[in-house]
Amino acid sequence: MKHIDPVCGMVVKEDKSLNYEYKGKKYYFCSQYCYEKFKANPEKYLDPNYKKEMKKD
Ligand SMILES: [Zn+2]
Repeated sequence: MKHIDPVCGMVVKEDKSLNYEYKGKKYYFCSQYCYEKFKANPEKYLDPNYKKEMKKD
């Protein structure tokens, strides 16, 4: 099963990814980076007006 990382918009696979439960729903993340960002401010990323950010190196 695949999920969309709510922070960066990447498709992530359930088996390997980090996940975090918020308000009874599980969210999946491509990396620790996205996971930490979501945990710090979940409402920001669940806002339908939020534009997904891509990691910049
Ligand atoms: Zn991500």
